Amino acid sequence: MNLELNDRAPARFAGGAAVDNQHAGAGDINHARPDISANRRRAKAMKFLRRCRSYLLPSAPRIGAIQLATGAALVIAPFSGATWHWYLVALFGYFMHGCIGHSIGYHRYFAHRSFTAPKWAEVLFTFCGALGCVGPPLAWSFMHRRHHARPDQNGDPYTAHLYPRPHWRALFLGDYRPGYSEKRLRRVLRNQPLQRVVHRYYFGIVGGYALALLAIDWYLFLFGWAVPVALTLWISALDAYAAHHWGYRNYQTRDASRNLWWMALLFWGEGWHNNHHARPGDWNFRQRWWEFDIGAMVITAMGLRPFAADKKPATIHESRREGIGEA
Ligand SMILES: [Zn+2]
Ligand SMILES: [Zn+2]
Repeated sequence: MNLELNDRAPARFAGGAAVDNQHAGAGDINHARPDISANRRRAKAMKFLRRCRSYLLPSAPRIGAIQLATGAALVIAPFSGATWHWYLVALFGYFMHGCIGHSIGYHRYFAHRSFTAPKWAEVLFTFCGALGCVGPPLAWSFMHRRHHARPDQNGDPYTAHLYPRPHWRALFLGDYRPGYSEKRLRRVLRNQPLQRVVHRYYFGIVGGYALALLAIDWYLFLFGWAVPVALTLWISALDAYAAHHWGYRNYQTRDASRNLWWMALLFWGEGWHNNHHARPGDWNFRQRWWEFDIGAMVITAMGLRPFAADKKPATIHESRREGIGEA
């Protein structure tokens, strides 16, 4: 019956003439109308669903909003009446999101592929970084590689050296230009099911995790997620700014990168930024004996191994040509 109605409807509306109306009674026409409106309703529902799904995709302004909201949580946390145990939970959360997720996983593994990792470690890196609101791993890696390809020049997604606006704005992740919808990124995601799901449903995964913690316990939400996320986001943004402005240089690189001891202590060794810009494919940022790299120590403790010399990308340009995760 449906097929019959669908066959008649185009003839009536396309031709304008009531082709079948001699046979079709008023009842048939009345049947055709609801069918068209059903199609419209279906199209509207699909459009609505597509729009809902687009809200789950990664977006710099939404990450910026989370940065501000969790920053507010960081300020109110000391007045929440929590016992000292919760501060240990926050420290552990900062280690998981900031060290395992951001520094080791996103930066040294996904962006620079400076060491090999088994599947379990790759999954751990992915969720530690993603739930820490750093963004999806491969999208972040694409953005970070652009920073190395054009440091402190036009096209650098987060340099403050070219800012026409106040420098404090460089601390706001919502202003970054991450290129989440780049064609090449979409091509790489096509071959990686886990990364594709994390990218497509990014804010669904993050929101679901945060709400689950909130449903269990308010303190767990505050100290187990909001405070560690705030520390990870604000300190990573500070690192991207400070380690291109203050500190000393071991290498004369073509950028303004610097080594900053207090930033290295705060952010798992990431403060040895001039060393890193000079040797981006190196998993260990330490060059002098006093430059302790906590992230490198954790990599060693996890039993992960650097790439063999013949497989390691020699320069960032080589690793860019290779493509993330394509090997
Ligand atoms: Zn840099
Ligand atoms: Zn890097």
